[in-house]
Amino acid sequence: MSPVDPDVARAARGAAEARKALAARLRAMGLLKDPRLLAAFESIPRHLFIPKAFESQAYGDSALPIGEGQTITQPANVARSVELLDLKPGAKVLEIGTGSGYQTAILACLCQHVFSLERIPTLAAGALKLLGALGIRNVSVKVFDGSYGWGDHGPYDGIVVAAAAPEVPAPLLNQLKGGGRLVIPAGPPERQRLLLVWKLPNGNTRTEDAGEVSFVPLVGKFGYTAAPERARPAGGERK
Ligand code: SAH
Repeated sequence: MSPVDPDVARAARGAAEARKALAARLRAMGLLKDPRLLAAFESIPRHLFIPKAFESQAYGDSALPIGEGQTITQPANVARSVELLDLKPGAKVLEIGTGSGYQTAILACLCQHVFSLERIPTLAAGALKLLGALGIRNVSVKVFDGSYGWGDHGPYDGIVVAAAAPEVPAPLLNQLKGGGRLVIPAGPPERQRLLLVWKLPNGNTRTEDAGEVSFVPLVGKFGYTAAPERARPAGGERK
């Protein structure tokens, strides 16, 4: 008897090929220039981070529903965001919006530890379980309003926000190291600009615009006050 079920082996080979094809597509878009990031995209099984019903679309370059009205981030936007962080192996990273845990897994391949915050308990629990099952140990996931950051473990070398905010939440800047980088989609709920904010050693910041993106809203004290349809900047009216 074969030790590996041939159907399982075929599916695993198929997924590995699909991952390579997606990585090649992202490379053709000028992404995944860092060989470590390329290796992460070729190894993390994105199809396990989405509901079975969407599995056949796992290696397309699109966001897909993960329940609770949320989506797994489009692979090109994961690649863009993570690349902008320019992580060193010893880095400590804060991620806001764990969601499925897919980007958390990619980050975990590139740095020493990922601290990830998610406001929806079922998503946090699902992500934590899957990351554990995949043997990814250098992550901590907590249910919390990530617009406050996670002060206990800061300051961070990199902070990445996987949900769109009306503007850069001040607590996140405070928790960034001098010389660190923050990547965040900022702007109205429909379409945003992906911003790279550098914190200079003297504490000042410099912001670069990395292009248009579309993310689900950051819902919280320093984000929007409500879910997508009714999203408004906290404490303000929509113009
Ligand atoms: N990178 C994740 C993105 C999921 S979508 C993935 O690819 O699966 C963005 C996530 O941010 C959602 O799960 C949403 O619940 C979460 N989110 C929104 N506002 C948040 C907040 N204030 N704090 C923590 N998580 C938040």
